Amino acid sequence: MSRIVYVNGDYLPEGEAKVSIFDRGFLMADGVYEVTTVIDGKLIDFDGHFTRLERSLGELDIANPMDREAWLEVHRQLVAQNAVELGMVYLQVTRGAPGDRDFIFPDPETTAPTVVLFTQSNPALVDSPKAKKGIKVVTIDDIRWGRRDIKTVQLLYPSMGKMMAIKQGADDAWMVQDGAVTEGTSNNAYIIKDGRIITRALSNDILHGITRAAVLRFAQEAQMQVEERNFTVDEAKDADEAFVTSASTFVMPVVEIDGTKLGTGAPGPLATRLREIYIDESRKAAL
Ligand code: PMP
Repeated sequence: MSRIVYVNGDYLPEGEAKVSIFDRGFLMADGVYEVTTVIDGKLIDFDGHFTRLERSLGELDIANPMDREAWLEVHRQLVAQNAVELGMVYLQVTRGAPGDRDFIFPDPETTAPTVVLFTQSNPALVDSPKAKKGIKVVTIDDIRWGRRDIKTVQLLYPSMGKMMAIKQGADDAWMVQDGAVTEGTSNNAYIIKDGRIITRALSNDILHGITRAAVLRFAQEAQMQVEERNFTVDEAKDADEAFVTSASTFVMPVVEIDGTKLGTGAPGPLATRLREIYIDESRKAAL
């Protein structure tokens, strides 16, 4: 079924949507994105994603082309027009398409940002077979740039990392810098030891996950102990449980790191409980 997508103010069948070959998103990865999950046809944590979008755009000196209400309206229109019950809305804003390729930023008075949104359905989002089994990760060097807090569309290394994992029979990769885990290729990383949830503190080294913020809040409300600090690969292999979080996977248990099984090799009780809490609470607060 052909989707209806949004490009620069228009709702169009996906086959008719066009972006210039001079777009700086295409030529230079000069753009940012967000992924907002849809459950029961409603948006999960829309305000968290809107706030991070504003921050990413601000860090790159790109003017936000729409206010909160306008962004919300486009999200809702696409969810409705494509009848999305379970899935996501992807949005991307680039610095636009000046006439020529040039390293110098174009004048924002004459080159408007490009705005693209589309939906993807995923019926297995909540009742995920992967979440029941848990995923396996391998560790790889984190060779990304130094502003990982900005959600840019430069996703080549994360994409290569995921392929390195798959080639080794794993599901995903955790990236490592100076011996400590930064994050997963498309998620934040956590270990649990003696009932304490340990995850790297926020900095420019990692993306400030919207799911991370929600999960840490729910964990604290449930009287779980949270430690925001670096952890090493050895510490992770010796953990009782581990998991990752992202808008599209919620809380996903990790059961193996570099071939070392954690605990019994099945999803642990705290990660499983956090997944349930996250889904229940997010459903209640969806817009
Ligand atoms: N880290 C990275 C590198 C990511 O790409 C993502 C998902 N886009 C996350 C963390 C998780 O962020 P969120 O919970 O906002 O989806």
